[in-house]
Amino acid sequence: MQNILAFKEFLKQPRKVVIVTHYKPDADALGSSLGLAGYLKKTGHSATVITPSDYPEFLTWMPGNSDVVIFNRDKIDDFAKRIDDSDLIFCLDFSSLKRINELGELVGKSSAKKVLIDHHLEPERFADFVYWDSTAASTAELVYALIHQLDEQHHVDADIANCLYAGLMTDTGGFRHANTTRKVFETAAALVDHGAEPARVSKLIYDNNTLERMRLMGFVLYEKLHVLPEYRTAYIALRTEDLKKFSSQTGDTEGLVNYGLSIKGVRLAVLISERRDNVKLSFRSLGNFSVNDFARKHFEGGGHKNAAGGQTTLSFDETVKTFLDLLPTYKMQLLEE
Ligand code: 5GP
Ligand code: MN
Repeated sequence: MQNILAFKEFLKQPRKVVIVTHYKPDADALGSSLGLAGYLKKTGHSATVITPSDYPEFLTWMPGNSDVVIFNRDKIDDFAKRIDDSDLIFCLDFSSLKRINELGELVGKSSAKKVLIDHHLEPERFADFVYWDSTAASTAELVYALIHQLDEQHHVDADIANCLYAGLMTDTGGFRHANTTRKVFETAAALVDHGAEPARVSKLIYDNNTLERMRLMGFVLYEKLHVLPEYRTAYIALRTEDLKKFSSQTGDTEGLVNYGLSIKGVRLAVLISERRDNVKLSFRSLGNFSVNDFARKHFEGGGHKNAAGGQTTLSFDETVKTFLDLLPTYKMQLLEE
């Protein structure tokens, strides 16, 4: 199944499909998965979306959300069976099986055909059919392009369109980042033709905050956002107790890193957050500074040139120090125009 024709042929029979996406799915991960699941169900297949972890409350409006299965290590046998029983596994919005933790082992071992749909840099080769384009702004855009290539776009209804639109909108930072191409607007327009509702989706995702989340944002901006003008860098480091103070929920810190980058002159922004088992880092950059390279090299991570993530098992303080100690090495690159 190495090309689109073979893929199309494979889908001529009803298939048992599993769709997996990355840990702590964002709107592109979940939106592309649910959009694809909606399309597959409409065309006679069964499709289950499995996520490696929970996800923010502000994504639960997506049609199909109630059928999403969140991985649970205590029921690993059930998950193994479900994955073994499938004919086809889609891997969406990630390109390394490590990004889906224990699920990655189950997917890797499965004899089902695997399809990778993704836009991250440097994908691993584990899939039978790869629909990958690192110039695409979002995986949702690729799902739409694939449906289009199958000449099946008439199946895209308002529910599917809203899911895909959510991914496209958020991975371009609301149509603002450097990845906002003509193709993005064309896809957005096509999705609107299929019934996507831009104002509703943007309200549900961006303007749906709890008061605690707003207070957390205020606290972070006032007390935790540090700027190092000599490195054109802004960083925020949050401990578990900071997050607890504001009853922080999954997703509450999403987007915080962008505030660092919104400061005049800043080219690299970082959010370091203490998690239960590790410390997570979120990177954003402007221009040529590749946070994909930076995260890959120093923090077991990766992503895109201007948006990437990683983690360490060092302590929180050691992680912050490691990050700060790296800056002098990158000074020239950070100060480059
Ligand atoms: P975020 O900072 O929003 O969590 O992630 C930014 C981008 O980097 C996303 O495209 C995300 O998929 C990717 N990313 C985040 N964390 C990791 C990681 O630990 N490993 C890899 N390979 N990519 C990551
Ligand atoms: Mn994405």
